[in-house]
Amino acid sequence: MRRRDLCSSTQSQVLGSLRTTTPAFTLNIPPEANHTEQPPAGLGARLQEAGVSIPPRRGRPTSTLEKKKKPHLMVEDEPSGALLKPLVFRVDETTPAVVQSVLLERGWNKFDKQEQNAEDWNLYWRTSSFRMTEHNNVKPWQQLNHHPGTTKLTRKDCLAKHLKHMRRMYGTSLYQFIPLTFVMPNDYTKFVAEYFQERQMLGTKHSYWICKPAELSRGRGILIFSDFKDFIFDDMYIVQKYISNPLLIGRYKCDLRIYVCVTGFKPLTIYVYQEGLVRFATEKFDLSNLQNNYAHLTNSSINKSGASYEKIKEVIGHGCKWTLSRFFSYLRSWDVDDLLLWKKIHRMVILTILAIAPSVPFAANCFELLGFDILIDDNLKPWLLEVNYSPDLTLDCSTDVLVKRKLVHDIIDLIYLNGLRNEEREASNATHGNSNIDAAKSDRGGLDAHDCPPYDSLSFTSRMYNEDDSVVEKAVSVRPEAAPASQLEGEMSGQDFHLSTREMTQSKPKLRSRHTPHKTLMPYASLFQSHSCKTKTSPCVLSDHGKAPDPQAGNFVLVFPFNEATLGASRNGLNVKRIIQELQKLMNKQHS
Ligand code: ADP
Repeated sequence: MRRRDLCSSTQSQVLGSLRTTTPAFTLNIPPEANHTEQPPAGLGARLQEAGVSIPPRRGRPTSTLEKKKKPHLMVEDEPSGALLKPLVFRVDETTPAVVQSVLLERGWNKFDKQEQNAEDWNLYWRTSSFRMTEHNNVKPWQQLNHHPGTTKLTRKDCLAKHLKHMRRMYGTSLYQFIPLTFVMPNDYTKFVAEYFQERQMLGTKHSYWICKPAELSRGRGILIFSDFKDFIFDDMYIVQKYISNPLLIGRYKCDLRIYVCVTGFKPLTIYVYQEGLVRFATEKFDLSNLQNNYAHLTNSSINKSGASYEKIKEVIGHGCKWTLSRFFSYLRSWDVDDLLLWKKIHRMVILTILAIAPSVPFAANCFELLGFDILIDDNLKPWLLEVNYSPDLTLDCSTDVLVKRKLVHDIIDLIYLNGLRNEEREASNATHGNSNIDAAKSDRGGLDAHDCPPYDSLSFTSRMYNEDDSVVEKAVSVRPEAAPASQLEGEMSGQDFHLSTREMTQSKPKLRSRHTPHKTLMPYASLFQSHSCKTKTSPCVLSDHGKAPDPQAGNFVLVFPFNEATLGASRNGLNVKRIIQELQKLMNKQHS
């Protein structure tokens, strides 16, 4: 049974499936759900996951679960013994430790196949993909952390091919965010022609290329070259234009790790995480030595073993990572329009996912966390380097801890908030006819449909935060990762700043007031929603065409669909052409 089927079951059916241990109770369980004597936790625990508290029943018996201080829920009107069980997660040896620790911290139980029925789990999180049969057999109460078909984005050669196709279909101007790429061995002749043509144009100047294995990660097997005689490749390599003018901070190269969660492809629903990582090379950028990986590659797996990792480096300090919020604060201190950069990144994410979305098979109850690696050049143009499958969640340093632990918490909030809403909506449908909005209002503290912004205001063209300082203040306070001002000022007081590979004339950046609208630490979330829609448990019922996804969960912000038109164009099949038109309109607005 798929998620859709779950949605059509009533709340009592869902609760019913939790009561199989209460024999005095007449069960009303659909045959598909009646597969287990120890059914998995369902709505009650999900309510708790989403922060909805259910008062405990007076005088209930103490259970082993309570002794262990696991979260448990009693529904007031249920007979005694209707103890709702904690959610259960399933892992394998590849599951990141942080995922397990966050879930345990949230009160989940770890699946134990000796003790539990095979289907008694709610979330299976692993590094590798699932087989299609596993997707087909997923139960309504289960979630998988991968969606089938997404490796089309995460293999470097496939990504290049898909984006090339999109360029042909929709024009180069939209899809010029990936460096010129050749897939070996097929494109060998084309590459050779391009190489020598460029050499001729540049005269004595050098041209730079990077050769990367299509399937490897963590900087393994990468070669940077300028002279054709240094070019060696194997099958399954790509050769790409090397961005030789990266944005430098303290003369160090960096790239951004942006986390993206696709909660569904049909309809397409994309969230971008408002925090992330900036990964630095640990030796100064130097085009005269292309062999120095510590200067040219920003992978932390490489840099953490470098001699300079522990050193306090100019501007960037110790280690090789910053939070994204620290990076944006740094840019703002140089009067860079970080908001424009962020909008470009969002657009790039949508355009990239659109390249595969129509060909991804339907699968219910799954999501995909992707890691977008983005390099910014000294003209502040973002370049997509690659999209990572199962982005690394190991905790190597305090910045990792800060970002990745909250990231996992927010993924759980995002997934379970969406699931919860479906259940409640359908439950209210069953009991009150079609009064979705009324039911949602009463359940969630009286939010009215008109309390929500019109859908167009979710678009990332609006600048709501510009007009209202109090909104700005609040936005700042909800961002735990934001570096304290003192820390930021500390790092900005360095004498020798290098914002770009070009010589900077200023020796010191200008610091502007942090309370001007442009100086907020978290301006982005407010681009997508008004304050009235900020609470986690307030659904925005915005469209007759179908429910609009939640605009935000923790630091995850909805970037697609971004208005009524794109919501419509993503239902009943994906109308990519229509979506591209909307993106183009948005770009034109931004440039006018
Ligand atoms: P991997 O999957 O091995 O990490 P990436 O494509 O992410 O491969 O490349 C590794 C690193 O190499 C990047 O983090 C970046 O620092 C550098 N790099 C990759 N491609 C380019 C490019 N086209 N221009 C400049 N630097 C690049």
